[in-house]
Amino acid sequence: MKSKGKIQYGQPNFQRIIKNIILILKIIPDAHITLRINFDESTLKVSNFDNVFKLIPKQYRRRVFISLQRVWQTVEKNESKSGNKELIQIRDSALNLGYSASETTQFHAGRAFKCYADRMYNTVIDYDGKVYKCTVNTHKEAGVLHDNGEIVWSRDTLTRLFSKAPFENKKCLSCKHLPICLNVCIQNTRGSSEVPERCALDYAEITVEDFIKSLLKNKVSVE
Ligand code: SF4
Repeated sequence: MKSKGKIQYGQPNFQRIIKNIILILKIIPDAHITLRINFDESTLKVSNFDNVFKLIPKQYRRRVFISLQRVWQTVEKNESKSGNKELIQIRDSALNLGYSASETTQFHAGRAFKCYADRMYNTVIDYDGKVYKCTVNTHKEAGVLHDNGEIVWSRDTLTRLFSKAPFENKKCLSCKHLPICLNVCIQNTRGSSEVPERCALDYAEITVEDFIKSLLKNKVSVE
Protein backbone atom coordinates (compact mmCIF):
# COMPACT_ATOMS: atom_id res chain seq x y z
CA MET A 1 0.00 0.00 0.00
CA LYS A 2 1.59 3.26 -1.11
CA SER A 3 -0.07 6.14 0.68
CA LYS A 4 1.90 8.62 -1.44
CA GLY A 5 0.40 7.29 -4.68
CA LYS A 6 -1.99 9.34 -6.82
CA ILE A 7 -5.08 8.53 -8.82
CA GLN A 8 -6.52 10.49 -11.73
CA TYR A 9 -6.65 14.29 -11.17
CA GLY A 10 -3.84 14.04 -8.61
CA GLN A 11 -5.94 13.03 -5.59
CA PRO A 12 -4.17 10.90 -2.95
CA ASN A 13 -5.22 7.28 -3.34
CA PHE A 14 -4.93 6.07 0.27
CA GLN A 15 -8.60 6.63 1.16
CA ARG A 16 -9.65 5.07 -2.14
CA ILE A 17 -7.58 1.93 -1.46
CA ILE A 18 -9.10 1.51 2.02
CA LYS A 19 -12.60 2.12 0.64
CA ASN A 20 -12.09 -0.49 -2.08
CA ILE A 21 -10.72 -3.05 0.39
CA ILE A 22 -13.79 -2.63 2.59
CA LEU A 23 -16.07 -2.91 -0.46
CA ILE A 24 -14.39 -6.16 -1.58
CA LEU A 25 -14.69 -7.65 1.92
CA LYS A 26 -18.33 -6.58 2.13
CA ILE A 27 -19.46 -7.75 -1.31
CA ILE A 28 -17.45 -11.00 -1.48
CA PRO A 29 -17.89 -12.94 1.78
CA ASP A 30 -15.08 -15.42 1.08
CA ALA A 31 -12.54 -12.84 -0.16
CA HIS A 32 -9.21 -12.75 1.65
CA ILE A 33 -6.92 -9.78 1.27
CA THR A 34 -3.21 -9.37 1.86
CA LEU A 35 -2.57 -5.81 2.95
CA ARG A 36 1.07 -5.19 2.14
CA ILE A 37 2.85 -2.38 3.96
CA ASN A 38 6.41 -1.65 2.88
CA PHE A 39 8.62 -0.25 5.60
CA ASP A 40 12.08 1.00 6.46
CA GLU A 41 13.39 2.26 9.80
CA SER A 42 11.74 5.67 9.54
CA THR A 43 8.32 4.22 8.58
CA LEU A 44 8.32 2.08 11.72
CA LYS A 45 9.09 5.11 13.90
CA VAL A 46 6.87 7.83 12.47
CA SER A 47 3.80 6.00 11.14
CA ASN A 48 0.82 5.40 13.36
CA PHE A 49 -0.13 1.93 12.15
CA ASP A 50 -2.92 1.51 14.71
CA ASN A 51 -4.82 4.37 13.09
CA VAL A 52 -4.52 2.61 9.72
CA PHE A 53 -5.54 -0.77 11.15
CA LYS A 54 -8.63 0.78 12.76
CA LEU A 55 -9.94 2.01 9.39
CA ILE A 56 -11.19 -1.45 8.43
CA PRO A 57 -14.31 -2.50 10.41
CA LYS A 58 -13.76 -5.24 12.99
CA GLN A 59 -16.05 -7.78 11.34
CA TYR A 60 -13.80 -7.94 8.23
CA ARG A 61 -10.35 -7.94 9.84
CA ARG A 62 -10.01 -11.70 10.20
CA ARG A 63 -9.95 -11.95 6.39
CA VAL A 64 -7.15 -9.41 6.06
CA PHE A 65 -3.49 -10.50 6.33
CA ILE A 66 -1.17 -7.67 7.26
CA SER A 67 2.07 -8.21 5.34
CA LEU A 68 4.90 -6.03 6.67
CA GLN A 69 7.68 -6.12 4.09
CA ARG A 70 10.98 -4.31 4.46
CA VAL A 71 12.00 -2.26 1.43
CA TRP A 72 14.58 -4.62 -0.06
CA GLN A 73 17.22 -1.91 -0.53
CA THR A 74 17.28 -1.48 3.28
CA VAL A 75 17.74 -5.17 4.20
CA GLU A 76 20.79 -5.61 6.42
CA LYS A 77 22.31 -8.31 8.59
CA ASN A 78 20.54 -8.27 11.92
CA GLU A 79 22.93 -8.74 14.84
CA SER A 80 20.18 -8.41 17.46
CA LYS A 81 19.13 -11.71 19.03
CA SER A 82 15.79 -10.34 20.19
CA GLY A 83 14.51 -9.08 16.83
CA ASN A 84 13.14 -5.71 15.77
CA LYS A 85 10.99 -4.61 18.74
CA GLU A 86 9.09 -1.94 16.80
CA LEU A 87 8.17 -4.39 14.06
CA ILE A 88 7.05 -7.03 16.58
CA GLN A 89 4.94 -4.44 18.39
CA ILE A 90 3.16 -3.44 15.16
CA ARG A 91 2.59 -7.09 14.23
CA ASP A 92 1.16 -7.83 17.71
CA SER A 93 -1.02 -4.77 17.53
CA ALA A 94 -2.49 -6.00 14.21
CA LEU A 95 -3.20 -9.40 15.78
CA ASN A 96 -4.79 -7.79 18.86
CA LEU A 97 -7.06 -5.71 16.64
CA GLY A 98 -8.35 -8.90 15.01
CA TYR A 99 -6.26 -9.19 11.85
CA SER A 100 -4.84 -12.51 10.68
CA ALA A 101 -1.24 -13.60 11.23
CA SER A 102 0.88 -11.66 8.85
CA GLU A 103 3.67 -12.93 6.67
CA THR A 104 7.21 -11.82 7.34
CA THR A 105 9.96 -11.33 4.80
CA GLN A 106 11.94 -14.26 6.20
CA PHE A 107 9.39 -16.72 7.61
CA HIS A 108 5.91 -17.88 6.68
CA ALA A 109 3.74 -20.92 7.26
CA GLY A 110 2.07 -23.22 4.76
CA ARG A 111 3.52 -21.67 1.63
CA ALA A 112 5.33 -23.61 -1.10
CA PHE A 113 7.33 -20.61 -2.32
CA LYS A 114 9.43 -17.93 -0.70
CA CYS A 115 7.99 -14.97 -2.60
CA TYR A 116 4.78 -14.65 -4.62
CA ALA A 117 7.00 -13.81 -7.60
CA ASP A 118 8.51 -17.32 -7.39
CA ARG A 119 5.32 -18.86 -8.75
CA MET A 120 5.70 -20.34 -12.21
CA TYR A 121 3.00 -18.18 -13.78
CA ASN A 122 3.85 -14.94 -12.00
CA THR A 123 4.19 -12.34 -14.76
CA VAL A 124 5.22 -8.69 -14.65
CA ILE A 125 4.23 -6.70 -17.75
CA ASP A 126 5.75 -3.23 -17.80
CA TYR A 127 4.08 -0.10 -19.23
CA ASP A 128 6.06 -0.60 -22.47
CA GLY A 129 4.98 -4.23 -22.90
CA LYS A 130 8.25 -5.74 -21.71
CA VAL A 131 7.86 -8.94 -19.74
CA TYR A 132 9.66 -9.89 -16.51
CA LYS A 133 9.35 -12.47 -13.74
CA CYS A 134 10.02 -10.03 -10.89
CA THR A 135 9.59 -6.27 -10.34
CA VAL A 136 13.10 -6.00 -8.87
CA ASN A 137 15.04 -7.76 -11.63
CA THR A 138 14.16 -5.83 -14.76
CA HIS A 139 17.60 -5.62 -16.34
CA LYS A 140 16.81 -8.51 -18.70
CA GLU A 141 13.46 -9.40 -20.21
CA ALA A 142 12.15 -12.86 -19.33
CA GLY A 143 9.84 -13.23 -22.30
CA VAL A 144 8.20 -11.50 -25.24
CA LEU A 145 4.58 -10.37 -25.38
CA HIS A 146 3.15 -10.88 -28.85
CA ASP A 147 0.35 -8.90 -30.49
CA ASN A 148 -2.13 -11.75 -29.93
CA GLY A 149 -1.53 -11.55 -26.17
CA GLU A 150 0.60 -14.69 -26.00
CA ILE A 151 3.79 -14.58 -23.93
CA VAL A 152 6.74 -16.60 -25.20
CA TRP A 153 9.07 -17.12 -22.25
CA SER A 154 12.83 -17.35 -22.49
CA ARG A 155 13.76 -20.99 -21.87
CA ASP A 156 17.17 -19.94 -20.55
CA THR A 157 15.60 -17.67 -17.95
CA LEU A 158 13.04 -20.24 -16.80
CA THR A 159 15.73 -22.93 -16.59
CA ARG A 160 17.97 -20.66 -14.53
CA LEU A 161 15.14 -19.76 -12.16
CA PHE A 162 13.40 -23.10 -11.73
CA SER A 163 15.94 -25.88 -12.29
CA LYS A 164 17.15 -25.88 -8.68
CA ALA A 165 15.27 -24.79 -5.57
CA PRO A 166 17.14 -22.19 -3.47
CA PHE A 167 17.14 -24.56 -0.46
CA GLU A 168 18.76 -27.45 -2.35
CA ASN A 169 21.95 -27.42 -0.34
CA LYS A 170 23.20 -29.52 2.58
CA LYS A 171 22.74 -26.87 5.25
CA CYS A 172 19.13 -25.94 4.37
CA LEU A 173 18.04 -29.54 3.78
CA SER A 174 19.16 -30.50 7.28
CA CYS A 175 17.81 -27.34 8.94
CA LYS A 176 14.81 -27.61 11.27
CA HIS A 177 13.57 -24.20 10.09
CA LEU A 178 13.29 -25.22 6.43
CA PRO A 179 9.44 -25.58 6.41
CA ILE A 180 8.98 -21.95 7.50
CA CYS A 181 11.98 -20.59 5.63
CA LEU A 182 12.75 -22.07 2.17
CA ASN A 183 15.92 -19.93 2.04
CA VAL A 184 15.92 -17.01 -0.45
CA CYS A 185 13.72 -16.28 -3.48
CA ILE A 186 14.52 -17.90 -6.82
CA GLN A 187 16.03 -14.66 -8.13
CA ASN A 188 18.80 -14.93 -5.54
CA THR A 189 19.75 -18.59 -5.85
CA ARG A 190 23.51 -18.51 -6.02
CA GLY A 191 24.44 -20.68 -3.04
CA SER A 192 26.64 -23.77 -3.36
CA SER A 193 25.44 -27.34 -2.87
CA GLU A 194 26.82 -27.10 0.70
CA VAL A 195 25.51 -23.75 2.04
CA PRO A 196 22.86 -21.19 1.02
CA GLU A 197 23.70 -17.84 -0.54
CA ARG A 198 22.66 -16.36 2.78
CA CYS A 199 20.92 -17.74 5.83
CA ALA A 200 17.56 -16.17 6.71
CA LEU A 201 18.45 -16.36 10.40
CA ASP A 202 21.15 -13.72 9.88
CA TYR A 203 18.64 -11.24 8.43
CA ALA A 204 15.45 -12.09 10.34
CA GLU A 205 13.86 -9.20 12.20
CA ILE A 206 11.39 -11.45 13.97
CA THR A 207 12.94 -14.44 15.73
CA VAL A 208 11.67 -17.92 14.90
CA GLU A 209 10.27 -18.13 18.47
CA ASP A 210 8.33 -14.85 18.11
CA PHE A 211 7.11 -15.87 14.68
CA ILE A 212 5.73 -19.18 16.02
CA LYS A 213 4.23 -17.46 19.08
CA SER A 214 2.28 -15.04 16.88
CA LEU A 215 1.06 -17.92 14.69
CA LEU A 216 -0.24 -19.62 17.83
CA LYS A 217 -1.76 -16.40 19.11
CA ASN A 218 -3.57 -16.00 15.81
CA LYS A 219 -4.84 -19.60 15.90
CA VAL A 220 -6.11 -19.24 19.46
CA SER A 221 -7.94 -16.00 18.65
CA VAL A 222 -9.64 -17.66 15.65
CA GLU A 223 -10.93 -20.64 17.66
S1 SF4 B 1 18.37 -20.27 5.05
FE1 SF4 B 1 19.15 -20.74 7.09
S2 SF4 B 1 17.29 -20.86 8.39
FE2 SF4 B 1 16.63 -21.00 6.24
S3 SF4 B 1 16.50 -23.21 5.84
FE3 SF4 B 1 18.53 -22.50 5.16
S4 SF4 B 1 19.87 -22.86 6.91
FE4 SF4 B 1 17.76 -22.94 7.67
